[in-house]
Amino acid sequence: MALKLFNTLTRSVQEFTPLNPQSKKVGMYCCGPTVYDFAHIGNWRTFVFADLVRRTLEFSGYTVQHVMNITDVEDKIIKRVRENKTTLREFTGQFETAFLDDLKALGCREPHQKPRATEHIPEIIALIEKLVARGVAYKAADGSVYFSIDKYRGCGCTYGQLLKLNLDEMRTGERVASDEYEKESIADFALWKARVPDDGDVFWPSPFGEGRPGWHIECSAMSIKALGETFDLHLGGEDLKFPHHEDEIAQSKGATGRPFVKHWLHGSHLLVEGKKMSKSLGNYFTLRDLMAKGSTGREVRYLLLTAHYRETFNFTLDGLAGAKSALGRIDECVSKLREASGAPGTAPASSSSEFTAPAKFLADFSAALSDDLNISAAWASVFEWVHETNKRLASSSLSIADAADALAAWDKVDSVLGVGAKADAEVPAEILALAEERTAAKKAKDFKRSDAIRDELKAKGWIIEDTPKGIKLKKI
Ligand SMILES: [Zn+2]
Repeated sequence: MALKLFNTLTRSVQEFTPLNPQSKKVGMYCCGPTVYDFAHIGNWRTFVFADLVRRTLEFSGYTVQHVMNITDVEDKIIKRVRENKTTLREFTGQFETAFLDDLKALGCREPHQKPRATEHIPEIIALIEKLVARGVAYKAADGSVYFSIDKYRGCGCTYGQLLKLNLDEMRTGERVASDEYEKESIADFALWKARVPDDGDVFWPSPFGEGRPGWHIECSAMSIKALGETFDLHLGGEDLKFPHHEDEIAQSKGATGRPFVKHWLHGSHLLVEGKKMSKSLGNYFTLRDLMAKGSTGREVRYLLLTAHYRETFNFTLDGLAGAKSALGRIDECVSKLREASGAPGTAPASSSSEFTAPAKFLADFSAALSDDLNISAAWASVFEWVHETNKRLASSSLSIADAADALAAWDKVDSVLGVGAKADAEVPAEILALAEERTAAKKAKDFKRSDAIRDELKAKGWIIEDTPKGIKLKKI
């Protein structure tokens, strides 16, 4: 089934095809973190969404080249470096490491390339030189180099591809030096910012004078270097549509004369407990904050993946509790299937022809994903499969082959969802010793002692079960 995705450029859901459909290769660029602080769950919604897109493409048979930049020089970073009296690399390094650790904890596949802006200064300068040579960028009296929206439009190019901008009403000739600005103040934006005393040691030499790049040009230079002048897919949070992505398009098209990206995807934002996240409201969470409250990365991932990417999502702590119990249902089913598939002699060896759950599961799941990543329908197929499989397990009507088929289907589905089955908790030596003592007590028919040990294990958070294959320890 053809994969359909919403394209912000055309404002419609359309079939996704790479630039070279025969190659089955997709170049995908996702704007990465600005490493000046720990990423919050609003940021994480975008990165988990990017991971879902990548995994869906891989599930659909594409080979994805996933590029995510690290913005390690930009207005906010320089301000923090100054405030913290540290160096750029020392400051950004700690948050880059934390970001990559969190990305892993959330079960996201690591991007194939993670270019840092500060390691692409020559490419950035070369791109600005091209823009100057083509007449769409100019050096202003403040020593900085700006992108000229008028000159760009004068070449027949459209500024305002991702959202409608009322350019006729704007005052031309104005300039904006900061990286972030509102669309009401559309103006020529900075490509190269001339060195000022507040920049401290953060500057590089260039043909335009000492200075540093603007944020927008960093992404154009790094994406073009990694994926070529025109590539398949660019994604990010909807807050980046303007000005960041619009400026990326203008800079890239302005420099190369070629279309920049075929398909743009934007993830919607997130509320926390029904409100815009803010530190003053006490509803501002990083992944670390949630983990300190006892949640796991996979629970947060699950919750972030329950909403459609184009819908505003209300993240709640109750929702996290729900995520834990939903994952528990999946874990229990998968763990029983593993037992059933690996226990010869306990079930008929041949597959029962009427057990169609795995095939239906895979078909429903992939149909849901193909429909612009209809994640609610995808999860519905998961829980229908859990329900059906549990029924079969309860009535012992599942053969070893059935169980193996069901597990194989789950593994394929989980290659997209990435929530995995919870690894069996490692049993500490003290608990194992108690369990062995209980087995010995039972053997000696000392049931009082064996019951006492069972209670002691429970008090320590472990349940012991007797199965035909021996004892089993489960963490409560
Ligand atoms: Zn970017």
